[in-house]
Amino acid sequence: MGDVLIEKPLNIQPPHKKRSPSNIPSIDIDGISNDDSDEYSTLKKLQRHLEYINLQEEYIKDEQRSLKRELVRAQEEIKRIQSSNYVVRILSTLDREKLKASSSVALHRHSNSLVDILPPEADSSIAMLGAHEKPDVTYADVGGLDMQKQEIREAVELPLTQFDLYKQIGIDPPRGVLLYGPPGTGKTMLVKAVANSTTANFIRVVGSEFVQKYLGEGPRMVRDVFRMARENSPAIIFIDEIDAIATKRFDAQTGADREVQRILLELLNQMDGFDQTSNVKVIMATNRADTLDPALLRPGRLDRKIEFPSLRDRRERRLIFTTIASKMSLSPEVDLDSLIIRNDPLSGAIIAAIMQEAGLRAVRKNRYNIIQSDLEDAYSSQVKGESSDVKFDFYK
Ligand code: ADP
Repeated sequence: MGDVLIEKPLNIQPPHKKRSPSNIPSIDIDGISNDDSDEYSTLKKLQRHLEYINLQEEYIKDEQRSLKRELVRAQEEIKRIQSSNYVVRILSTLDREKLKASSSVALHRHSNSLVDILPPEADSSIAMLGAHEKPDVTYADVGGLDMQKQEIREAVELPLTQFDLYKQIGIDPPRGVLLYGPPGTGKTMLVKAVANSTTANFIRVVGSEFVQKYLGEGPRMVRDVFRMARENSPAIIFIDEIDAIATKRFDAQTGADREVQRILLELLNQMDGFDQTSNVKVIMATNRADTLDPALLRPGRLDRKIEFPSLRDRRERRLIFTTIASKMSLSPEVDLDSLIIRNDPLSGAIIAAIMQEAGLRAVRKNRYNIIQSDLEDAYSSQVKGESSDVKFDFYK
């Protein structure tokens, strides 16, 4: 016979029973106090908190193990290096000040003399765009999205350029912003415009890049990204497709899921950890805000959320069409309005694709400008693939 499990009834006292505060230890975790009349929900909250703490503990243990391994590896490396000593010459043009312990250097192939000091390199897959290699998208290239432009300016640009203003008024500038909305609504494009218009350094990573690494490498890569940003501040970190690592996972059983959880914890850690003076702003983008872990959206992490709606009204469509058309050569008789008034729900990406295809059609016919029939053909070929159920609901 198997074990018999007897469940004891929970001894929960009715909330109205008066108890003297002196004999009850005061618990105050995340605003939970004994005053809470609903003790069951308090219990649940505490249980959840405990689960979270357990998870963190496991994470810390894991980290300790990996740090130990790293230490052993480093010690072996030192032994190996010490066992074979080379005396090398340093090129006289090099700035010896820059030569510090753990710098990466380049040696001459034959003489082994030191010819260059390499910039500190985190992970080769993390790319930082310096001031001169910014994307060439400007705010003016982004059609419509006026609200979104203003909000991202306030959340990212102003705190970077006017940091003192925030300090003087005595408020904390936003640390990060989440851009959410369906694909093709201009999120990435707007971030490129932000990068282009500020002098801040810009680091772009895609959420899934953290996960494809070896187990344990993901959290380290998160740390590297933030370290790189701090060292190069003012800086903007842009994490695209954040849902790849920040999706709610209730029962992380597999190793891969636990790794993703650790990556997210590290991300939260870093977001909490970097102090306001470091002048690093985080932008994250997702197509699936509904599945994001709410922990990421707590105040002090991603303070602002900016929505990019899928269905555009006529004014927005006109702004996007005319913005894109302004860089193209259109024949004077072209009537963009005839396309705009059709009320199809077009995303920015579809409008861009229509204009692109119209241009291609003109090129194919050896013409120097786009005529109305190019646009008509491009429109019907791009739009007919859309699902029709959403199409007409919205404009009833
Ligand atoms: P998301 O990041 O929201 O998935 P993107 O920003 O990558 O979408 O948009 C894809 C493409 O669609 C852009 O490269 C651009 O050509 C076009 N596009 C989207 N929105 C706009 C817009 N508001 N104005 C001009 N072009 C746009």
